[in-house]
Amino acid sequence: MYIVPESAVADLISAEASFDAVEAVFASMAKGDAYNFPVIREAIGHADALYGFKSGFDRAGLNLGLKSGGYWPGNEAKGLANHQSTVFLFDADTGKVKSIVGGNLLTALRTAAASAVSIKHLARKDAKVLGMVGAGHQSAFQMRAAVKQRGFEKVIGWNFHPEMLSRLETTANELGLPFEAVDLDRLGAESDVIITITSSFDAILKSDQISSGTHLACMGTDTKGKQEVDAALLGKSTVFTDEIAQSISIGEAQHAVAQGLIKESDITEIGSVINGSHPGRTSSDEITLFDGTGVGLQDLAVAQSVVDIAVKKGAAIEVEF
Ligand code: NAD
Repeated sequence: MYIVPESAVADLISAEASFDAVEAVFASMAKGDAYNFPVIREAIGHADALYGFKSGFDRAGLNLGLKSGGYWPGNEAKGLANHQSTVFLFDADTGKVKSIVGGNLLTALRTAAASAVSIKHLARKDAKVLGMVGAGHQSAFQMRAAVKQRGFEKVIGWNFHPEMLSRLETTANELGLPFEAVDLDRLGAESDVIITITSSFDAILKSDQISSGTHLACMGTDTKGKQEVDAALLGKSTVFTDEIAQSISIGEAQHAVAQGLIKESDITEIGSVINGSHPGRTSSDEITLFDGTGVGLQDLAVAQSVVDIAVKKGAAIEVEF
């Protein structure tokens, strides 16, 4: 069995490799070659933590396993990332554990890759202004992955805790882009692409704040009850997701479906756009919305890439188990 510790992961996988792994696994899901098992995610009643499992099986790549972990909001005060997770990969023929891989950086990379995949396939080609809602740990990864997909000239941002906005400014400047903190009306009016990546339980962006032609990647809602945008916005958008079952239960679409504003059949898996069986955006004034809930197969795909590279480079720890 191989172990790849968290500290080794950064040197073993790039944002580009994560993007490729995630785009490929979304395509496999839409073809029916890969499927996710139901998610377990529980408030454990200790340390305000949400803990759970995301798992799945990719029949084509024989990738079987799970990511276990969750969200501990008090961690940052302890010098730790709020998200803590570990990926376990199993031999699909025998069930024997094959690898254990640190999942913290991988979670950020695979989540940023998912919204970047949505931008590649759904945003207008002439998108120039990137709007960021959220300035936590994930936000910098999201911005770095997004700017590779279009010729963005400016980043604008809003955050519930304004003191965190410096993370967005620093990241934009590192990427050679100007940054401006704006209110939500301006964010909606001026952005061509909006990424939401917060832990909000109430709609932040209202439907009438969003301009026609915008692409939104709503990435923060991954649990029952969370919400980043007005349910009415999904009613007037073309809605895409990583996985429909998660979108309607733990994703942004849970609210619009519960209120009868959209039906499950109105939601399209992004893999169908990647595979060419759905056209994606069909006009420049259409609002497209990607409900990125985060699927276990994304974690397995990037973890397998890391193990393959680690074994090749001699960076994996091999143990008898
Ligand atoms: P973080 O704790 O570092 O940052 C939290 C962010 O949410 C900050 O911008 C904060 O200001 C904002 N926020 C907190 N309370 C808020 C409120 N009441 N209203 C509006 N905004 C509020 O977290 P992070 O690591 O950046 O993760 C952000 C979110 O993304 C979390 O909800 C996490 O569960 C989710 N996430 C989703 C996926 C996925 O695959 N979809 C993957 C990783 C993380």
